[in-house]
Amino acid sequence: MANFTSSVGMEVHAELATHSKMFCRCPVAFGGEPNTRTCPVCLGLPGTLPVPNHAAIVMVLKTALALNCQIAMHSIFHRKNYFYPDIPKGYQISQYGETNPLGYNGYLDISTKDGGTKRIRIRRVHLEEDTGKLTHLPNGGSGVDYNRAGTPLMEIVTDFPPDIENPEEAKEYLTQLRQILVYLGVCDGKMEEGSLRCEPNISVRPEGSAEFGTKTELKNLNSFRSVQMGVAFEVRRQIAEIEVGGKVLQETRGWNEQKEASYLMRVKEAENDYRYFADPDLIPMKFEEAFIEELRSSLPELPTAKLARYQEALGLSAYDAGVLIAESAWSAYFEEAIALGGDPKTVCNWMAGDLAKLINDAGIDLPACKVRPAHIVDLIQLVTSGSINGKMAKQLLAESFKSGEMPGEIAKATGASQITDPGQVREIILNVLATYPDQVAKFREGNLGIKGFLVGQVMKESGGRANPGLVQQIIGVELEA
Ligand SMILES: [Zn+2]
Repeated sequence: MANFTSSVGMEVHAELATHSKMFCRCPVAFGGEPNTRTCPVCLGLPGTLPVPNHAAIVMVLKTALALNCQIAMHSIFHRKNYFYPDIPKGYQISQYGETNPLGYNGYLDISTKDGGTKRIRIRRVHLEEDTGKLTHLPNGGSGVDYNRAGTPLMEIVTDFPPDIENPEEAKEYLTQLRQILVYLGVCDGKMEEGSLRCEPNISVRPEGSAEFGTKTELKNLNSFRSVQMGVAFEVRRQIAEIEVGGKVLQETRGWNEQKEASYLMRVKEAENDYRYFADPDLIPMKFEEAFIEELRSSLPELPTAKLARYQEALGLSAYDAGVLIAESAWSAYFEEAIALGGDPKTVCNWMAGDLAKLINDAGIDLPACKVRPAHIVDLIQLVTSGSINGKMAKQLLAESFKSGEMPGEIAKATGASQITDPGQVREIILNVLATYPDQVAKFREGNLGIKGFLVGQVMKESGGRANPGLVQQIIGVELEA
């Protein structure tokens, strides 16, 4: 049995987070009643003229710069002609050619399992418009919804021959790409709503062979998990096909999430001829060097740079730093808490631990959480100053999560403060020792493990408020007495 090498090309479509559509002023949103966000321009009615959305062009340029691309200082829009009801005009406005896309010849360095990086070359980053959506109606027939038609759509395509060689790399590439888009604020990255869509093409060839195998394209992948599983499935399916003497056909295949298997959608007979030509209704785009440099310097700190800084400058572990940078909202929250004086490691522990759990249990997003960075810093100060212990801090956080009140305010109002007066702690201990004479006797006979039980009783007696260190210290002295 021969060994096989697999190659994965990635085509990613990202709906841009603009307020209005690419060539008209219809609002961009998800869902809603069909055909309620349309106008003569995005319906392709005769006599209408498109006006490009400046914000969308800037978003694509920023993405191209973040992906280390060359910028097409002169760039034009093309018409991609095809006839299908999802496109009302009979053509889609897109960008064609090797050096015409707003960005080309870029790369993204992805993390590898061994802790290193691998460079994934990017062929093009271009701007086009999204299509409408076809739906099958319950009583038969099909309907078309043009709410999505004309939404600014960015396409990011990896270079050929593909640098991605396995399902894990495909998933990592998509994960890091999504992070960058979300950090740049150009796409909300919601795969489940289709604002980020990924269509990998996969081929296999015998190890050492210079000739690439026939590739298949996968569609309907709506999560990172399905991208990884889909690619892995296609690799296995193609190898099995070749091993029984069959041939891999050039197909477009869908992904069935429930069956965890791909299925044939259509066989590609021939490449479509889209008869691209420059759109005569849209004037060429020309950019000044100074404008591009201004955009370059306006880019926010990107996830990989943040990851390195959190480890090197703030002393976080690679794991902790990874958790914080995964979502830009989390890293922004973290940085706000640090700016307010919170210790990085302690803030991270509260965020990744109790706060994340409260948020998950409530089913909300971090931005909707009433506990703000100032609350976390307040909580940490209460613990550090010794006015509350760890257990009380957890309770205060839960209270604060419900009401939005500052932990310090709640502590003041409820009298929830730690007992740090040694005399008071000793009094509680003596009471407990008097209540459990048998256990005390056992301890003195050499059963040292029973001390834990007695400490537990003291904490319970104090309502969890006794300073644990002080309890340990004083109970030791009293038991030895
Ligand atoms: Zn419109």
